[in-house]
Amino acid sequence: DHNKFQAIISHCKEYGFVFPSSEIYDGLSAVYDYGQYGAELKKNIRDYWWKSMTQMHENIVGIDAAIFMHPTTWKASGHVDGFSDPMIDNKDSKKRYRVDHLIEAHAETLPEAESDALLQQMNALLAADDLAGLKKLIEDNKIKCTVSGTVNWTDVRQFNLMFSTQLGSVTDEASEIYLRPETAQGIFVNFLNVQKTGRMKIPFGIAQIGKAFRNEIVARQFIFRMREFEQMEMQFFIRPGSQEEWYAYWKQERMKWHLSLGTDAAKYRFKDHEKLAFYADAAVDIEYDFPIGFKEVEGIHSRTDHDLGRHQEFSKKKMQYFDPEINQNYTPYVIETSIGLDRMFLLTVCNAYEEQDLSTPEKQDSRVVLKFPAKLAPIKLAIFPLTKRDGLPEIARELMDQCKSSFYCYYEEKDTIGKRYRRQDAIGTPFCVTIDHQTKEDNTVTIRYRDNMEQERIPLSQVREKVLAAIL
Ligand code: ATP
Repeated sequence: DHNKFQAIISHCKEYGFVFPSSEIYDGLSAVYDYGQYGAELKKNIRDYWWKSMTQMHENIVGIDAAIFMHPTTWKASGHVDGFSDPMIDNKDSKKRYRVDHLIEAHAETLPEAESDALLQQMNALLAADDLAGLKKLIEDNKIKCTVSGTVNWTDVRQFNLMFSTQLGSVTDEASEIYLRPETAQGIFVNFLNVQKTGRMKIPFGIAQIGKAFRNEIVARQFIFRMREFEQMEMQFFIRPGSQEEWYAYWKQERMKWHLSLGTDAAKYRFKDHEKLAFYADAAVDIEYDFPIGFKEVEGIHSRTDHDLGRHQEFSKKKMQYFDPEINQNYTPYVIETSIGLDRMFLLTVCNAYEEQDLSTPEKQDSRVVLKFPAKLAPIKLAIFPLTKRDGLPEIARELMDQCKSSFYCYYEEKDTIGKRYRRQDAIGTPFCVTIDHQTKEDNTVTIRYRDNMEQERIPLSQVREKVLAAIL
């Protein structure tokens, strides 16, 4: 549902969630800024992941590694040689396309059987790195990227997705460094530091949240695919031979995390990878039913001892663990869970977004509401004095002072109460409280619930507890 997706993008901008980067200069492709409510929502998702992965798992600790790493890291990880996508250019428009995206987009316009056959051919060619074959596939299928005209394609070439820059002022090759394309390597290179200083016993995990950078060629679909984004990753180090058991465990555990946010289970599915990296044992994506279709939000990968093994080879440092239970030294195996924070943000907004028709025979009416889980909502409680007079703002301010150190509150005294409610619906505030003249008499307030728009009178003294109970 393309229209719904466009409406969500507009809503994100209009209500201060996501802006195009440097918009006054017409933006920067596939780079975005988070606004006042977006930054809060993103922080709340980040905190929820961090707490459930570290605090709630006694054998997982979190680190915060630098974005810049020694350049050899990326040789060892395989990114210098292998982190590339096949691209093709349209000679006339000078536009560049990722071959898989181009073919997939074309496949979507075909009947199912033809589409499946085309995708199968594509996957086989991609797996074989057959660039000439890919070009032929594009030409044979007369794949176009514009509505009309034939296309004059270049050959298919591999483009590395890493951004590079110079360390210091010398511009020799040795000073070339990369912006990390994933956070995982910061964990692998710190494996021994953390294991020793934290006295960690296998099985244990290291978690990390941070920026990653990829020079995505086809940058589209809003914050689904960005050039600068944030990842939340966890590497779980295990005894060789136990990978099947731990892979199954993390698959379930991560799906549980997603469902713990109250999302309908039918909106999620597992999708096994069709082609595995040569070192991988197993890999699966968790996909969500976005308005643009089922798409990956998280990956769970069984990576064997590949990463630690490669770092051992390149650094000449032993990446081994002595397991006292079996009296043996070994290079641990790894199960990885990797989720994009921005993609989880997009999922959260898409899942929460609802356009409701509230018309009655007398009056046309509608609202847009973001039904965020209360613990993720940017603002938890909005506090409205009914009027600006009669001591009502003072009572409202007192409630504000009582609550604001515990959760994010919003004070508003302008406009009708109805309009104020609708503005909070649009940013997903689960609770609004109105202070009126009766409050002065009996210390009760009207609390209004976002999802069903119902209102009830409760003692002023219970507001804080009620919100706290909902967001824990
Ligand atoms: P894709 O196939 O979509 O390019 P990927 O399989 O390369 O993604 P991983 O390298 O496994 O992705 O990264 C793990 C997670 O990081 C993804 O599931 C996704 O949520 C997020 N991610 C990856 N690339 C981007 C990007 N360009 N923008 C936003 N999030 C991203």
